Amino acid sequence: MPLPLQDRTVAIRSCASYDYPLVKEAVAGLGKNIAGGWAAIIPGGSKVLIKPNLLTAATAEQCVSPHPAVVRAIVELCRDAGAASVTIGDSPGFGTAQKVAAKCGILDTARELGVEVVNFTESVTVPAPAGFHNRSFSIARDIAEADVVINLAKFKTHAMMVMTLAVKNMFGAFAGKQKAQWHLQSGRSQDHFARMLVELAYTVKPAISVLDAVIGMEGNGPNSGTPRKLGFLAASRDMVSLDRVACGITGVSPDAVYIFKAAHDAGLAVDLDGIRLAGDPIEPLKITDLKPASMMHVQGPAYFRPFARLLLHSLTTRPVVDATVCKGCGICMQACPASAISQPAAGKVVRIDYDACIRCYCCQELCPEGAIAPRDAWGLRMLKKLKSN
Ligand code: SF4
Ligand code: SF4
Repeated sequence: MPLPLQDRTVAIRSCASYDYPLVKEAVAGLGKNIAGGWAAIIPGGSKVLIKPNLLTAATAEQCVSPHPAVVRAIVELCRDAGAASVTIGDSPGFGTAQKVAAKCGILDTARELGVEVVNFTESVTVPAPAGFHNRSFSIARDIAEADVVINLAKFKTHAMMVMTLAVKNMFGAFAGKQKAQWHLQSGRSQDHFARMLVELAYTVKPAISVLDAVIGMEGNGPNSGTPRKLGFLAASRDMVSLDRVACGITGVSPDAVYIFKAAHDAGLAVDLDGIRLAGDPIEPLKITDLKPASMMHVQGPAYFRPFARLLLHSLTTRPVVDATVCKGCGICMQACPASAISQPAAGKVVRIDYDACIRCYCCQELCPEGAIAPRDAWGLRMLKKLKSN
């Protein structure tokens, strides 16, 4: 399989709220801008799998998952286009797809529409394009056997990867414990992890990726951040281009986002100039004050990163548990791929062994109380102070 060709059209539609008529019009418009209509994306009689970001159980208002109104619009448009079947599926970080979908309202929407929500459990091996580091990936059978995959991402900040957008959302193509194994394999290297994410996403190669940025998340994302109104929906056949435009609109420097360097290294086009924008103008949507996840600042200037890796304990950021907020549920302990979290007794505040911790931030992602946040170690705090003086 050769390196995927990139159709670098990115469609943007402003959308002021999740009122259904507005969302439906915007999502229909995205399909028109990308391909002349959803019928050109969804072949008649096809089996469609929608893969929303179902990270962990949270309400629609917490903005962890795409809004049910966006899911409804996509399902209806797929059916209008003649899809034979539509299924919604994911492999959440904690719990099942059904439980996460129930909490955010997607399950109710799916039931109303007669759509099944599936939890990825079985895997099959598929070849990766030639030239990638990975020759194949073992991905969820539901994804591999779909005729059309629709990648439905949510705009959120991310402690480990800076942002989670279209490329990162495809991490859910791994079923069950595979996600933890990939975290372990990448260790403390964001670059290694980003390269794997890019290769996985372009192996699955969804027919279209849709980004819900009507209300996204800033701050301590991707689970415990603050909802941030951004007012747009976007879509593209090319995930890197979609992510690049979303970062451009929200003032996130592409140099800070590991995915873009990894995509460039993998031979994909990343530049903004080569992207064809369609739909609504982006100028009125632009913001410059998005609050990052703390990790977005952690490693100081690029020239300092090799030293930071050597001086792990004093010069990097690490997950810190707020003992006043932790309820001792143990979810972080179960999610930790490095077995770096322990609990003195059931129900007590957990402890992190920083020698074992690989800084994957799965614990911060999945803590239902928002009790874990990235914090700079003392050396990094001093370094930043010096830099700001
Ligand atoms: S830090 Fe969060 S996930 Fe971990 S035990 Fe405490 S409340 Fe549960
Ligand atoms: S303690 Fe948290 S950041 Fe460290 S390895 Fe475990 S899950 Fe990852």
